[in-house]
Amino acid sequence: MRIGIPRALLYYNYYPFWKIFFESLGHEVVLSSPTNKKILKDGLESTVDDACLPVKVFHGHVIDLINTVDAVFIPRIISVESGEFICPKFLGLPDMIRNSVAGLPRIIDCELSLYRNKTGFMEHAIRVGRLLGNSTQEALRAYLLASSKYNSYKKFRVKNGRLPIDEGDKSFFEVTAPDYSKYKDGSFKFNVLVLGHPYNIYDRYVSMNLIKKLQDFGAKIITPEIIPERNISAGAKKLNKKLFWTLGKNILGSAYYYMDNCKLDGIVHVASFGCGPDSLVGELLERKVSRDYSLPFLYLNLDEHAGEEGFNTRLEAFVDILERRRCGESNVSSHG
Ligand code: SF4
Repeated sequence: MRIGIPRALLYYNYYPFWKIFFESLGHEVVLSSPTNKKILKDGLESTVDDACLPVKVFHGHVIDLINTVDAVFIPRIISVESGEFICPKFLGLPDMIRNSVAGLPRIIDCELSLYRNKTGFMEHAIRVGRLLGNSTQEALRAYLLASSKYNSYKKFRVKNGRLPIDEGDKSFFEVTAPDYSKYKDGSFKFNVLVLGHPYNIYDRYVSMNLIKKLQDFGAKIITPEIIPERNISAGAKKLNKKLFWTLGKNILGSAYYYMDNCKLDGIVHVASFGCGPDSLVGELLERKVSRDYSLPFLYLNLDEHAGEEGFNTRLEAFVDILERRRCGESNVSSHG
């Protein structure tokens, strides 16, 4: 069977696992194209107005796959970590797609909730395999193989500071030797923590190539995806109250840990217009940075109308502050 995976939302977290899982069950995995103007336009035209930008982009990616696959994989996700939840939009995603997109192939929409069930991911994968006509034994074998490779990939990513950015037509997982030679340690002028949901910061089109632009200014980029989970948990424990949104916890945990334990020159927070969790997390983050740390902070809110020129101007102003503080101008305000 040809199974389509939209290159959006939690693709940036789980694609390596699902690619190995489906292929070891004998299925072919087809990725949608990297986000482009047409995908965004299709997504905007097919989604309800009050959806956030990443959900709109996801719709466009599903449309991109329609005529090339036998089924599209859109799990119904409730929770990806014990005792935590993920945004409710993930729970309703298969229904939103069914109601908004015409001519769909089969949707594989098994539910995933790890809130009270630590082995839930294995059970979820076995259910997916059985839905595709594989036996429990086959699905279990595929799960064990995929989870072992996926865990090695995550360790490699953290150890080598490897960001999950798409490289052209290939996915980040398929590119084994990207050319990072010009970004070696020692050539960086600043350490910049870039915070946001992976689908916002790593999608080159949606983020207007933010990471590459910062790297070209001489910044070493740190994101939650290359920070060890134990450090994120240690940072999150400093919050007055446990944050039960996994993606928000990763953002704040990374910031709190990094600001206290590592050399940092500035923070960029990328949020989506229309995102409830982002507005809460952004507020907590900005208050903490301005009250307890004197760090330059740039807040970027992405929506479908954001223009690249204005975006670049704000980025240049932020880098200008970093430059001037680096040259010892300590009177430069950390907020521009
Ligand atoms: S967390 Fe925010 S950006 Fe992500 S899907 Fe939910 S509303 Fe959209």
